[in-house]
Amino acid sequence: MYSIEQRDEQLRGTTAAITYTLGFDRAAQHLISVRMRIDNVTGDAITVVMPSWSPGSYKIRDYAGYQGNVTTWVGTGANRKSAPSKWRDKASLVIDTKGASTVEIDYVIYAHERTVRTNHVNRFHAFLVPTAVCMYVEGRTDEIHHVMLTHNTSAWPSVSTSLSPVQAPSQQGMLFGALNYDVLADSPIEIGDHQVQTFDLAGAKHEVAVPTNFSIDVMWLSKQIKRIVTVEAEMFGGVPYDRYVFIIQVYPGAGGGLEHARSSVNAVDPSAMLDKTKVIGLLSLLCHEYFHLWNVKRIRPVELGPFDYTRETYTPMLWLAEGLTSYYDDLLAYRCGFSTEKEYIEILSKDHIGKLATVPGRNAMSTRDSSTLAWLKLYMASPDGSNRFPSYYLKGGVIILLLDVYIIDHSDGKYSLDDAMRAFWKRYQADPSRGLTENEVIGLIEESTKIQIKDRLMSWLNGTTELPYNEILEAVALKVVDTPKPIESVKIGEAVTFANVPPAPYLGMALADSGGRIVVKSVEDGSPAAQAGIGIDDEIVAIEGKRVASPANVDHYCGVRIGVPTELTGHCDGRLYTTTITPLAQPTLRVIEIEQPSDRQKEMRNRWLRRTL
Ligand SMILES: [Zn+2]
Repeated sequence: MYSIEQRDEQLRGTTAAITYTLGFDRAAQHLISVRMRIDNVTGDAITVVMPSWSPGSYKIRDYAGYQGNVTTWVGTGANRKSAPSKWRDKASLVIDTKGASTVEIDYVIYAHERTVRTNHVNRFHAFLVPTAVCMYVEGRTDEIHHVMLTHNTSAWPSVSTSLSPVQAPSQQGMLFGALNYDVLADSPIEIGDHQVQTFDLAGAKHEVAVPTNFSIDVMWLSKQIKRIVTVEAEMFGGVPYDRYVFIIQVYPGAGGGLEHARSSVNAVDPSAMLDKTKVIGLLSLLCHEYFHLWNVKRIRPVELGPFDYTRETYTPMLWLAEGLTSYYDDLLAYRCGFSTEKEYIEILSKDHIGKLATVPGRNAMSTRDSSTLAWLKLYMASPDGSNRFPSYYLKGGVIILLLDVYIIDHSDGKYSLDDAMRAFWKRYQADPSRGLTENEVIGLIEESTKIQIKDRLMSWLNGTTELPYNEILEAVALKVVDTPKPIESVKIGEAVTFANVPPAPYLGMALADSGGRIVVKSVEDGSPAAQAGIGIDDEIVAIEGKRVASPANVDHYCGVRIGVPTELTGHCDGRLYTTTITPLAQPTLRVIEIEQPSDRQKEMRNRWLRRTL
């Protein structure tokens, strides 16, 4: 039976017939040495497989591509003999066991890609993603698996992982365990000299691990994480784990996160701690990945667990897994007190509804299709991607916002989406082995809120037309308008008003400085840039005969010419060309307050945005 539940006490003192011994002698060369030992082997052959992807990250990564020096053996120690083996496909190795009961496979893994779902090892630390390190034995994934870490513990004193300690550290190393391969696959490991803070809350242990070279206030972070745990645990009536590990990687250019059942990996740029907007973003990311321990790890689309690690797992329901979580992350950050009501509305305006309005692909593909095709679209987006599909995070989140407000409005404030979440949770607890079908999800929402939403919700999820913002959001005294934000005059000193800087004109292309050349990174369908015949990777050389030296120059030269045809010199494929571009005013879809809201609108707003901390 499929299960990702594990408590530390279940692993203490266990033995395992499948053990990985991991060595880091060549960490400086970004190499991990793996010895996989399999006992209790029966029959003449055994097949071991390296996963091709990591659950939660919907892309084929072919981790076997990082594997090398594979040798296969029967017996162990002094009795070990080479055993013949053959690759059955790109990731599966069939070993001729000659009737032996113990088989060993030795290999190395090249670990030099720093993301939340790939291994990263160097002389200072190791971040391990088990799907990218540990092969599984076909037919034996339900057994206990052990992992022995043999690193130098004086150089790397900290190990942070949701794998459970099996016994006290010994000469051989530190032994950790998982009840089955799915738990192992779901348990990343950080080893190094990183800072760790721990706290007990909601009857469980929590660990905050921050591998970084930057000076980060881990105490402060840990304090905010306590608020997150309190708010989310309160929503679901407690936490379903005995121990949870927050791994927060801080390095330049970092971003994103990956959820697990008893841990999460969150990656942020060091500047996240220096800027108010960015720090709210970091706290919202932590809310997001932590919320996933309920929504997606446990409450999940029927296709997402048990997993086939060898190939794509298609589901149209990432609107539930990621869209719903994207709606809740900023809302939970608000409930935690990380943003004011005004700031939260501004976030909805800028990062949700306003942002979706800049994605032409919302009119080209439905949210459900964007989910099914995540493997080729969101995770392999071409520079043209934004024209072809909407992200199921972004559009899914906006749809869920409308759904929540619709439920609150139509139940006169009696119910909200929180009630549906608790109904999903009860259903998981009743049968953890099976995920939810779309019909079950809709049935549970309708049952727990007494509101019929099926036709409406499905039309939003399957549709490509604009969503009915004003019809729904009026209930909470909000409206969506497309008028530009009034320009606030800026003062210098006490009395001098600085010149109003008008917003940059809209050209519909993204530009980047590539070694002094101003290069087009994307072009929006139907935009002034598209109409002028400008393409991706073209260079913008000059505007009205003036050399363009930075992306900002383009705005500046065109800024005074909104609506006026402007001569632009471009470069494509070795040849110069001249075209005419007519800049437009920036499209500005934004959420604003309805003036003089009624008592009912105020009441519904309070119901929607009531704080729980
Ligand atoms: Zn997510």
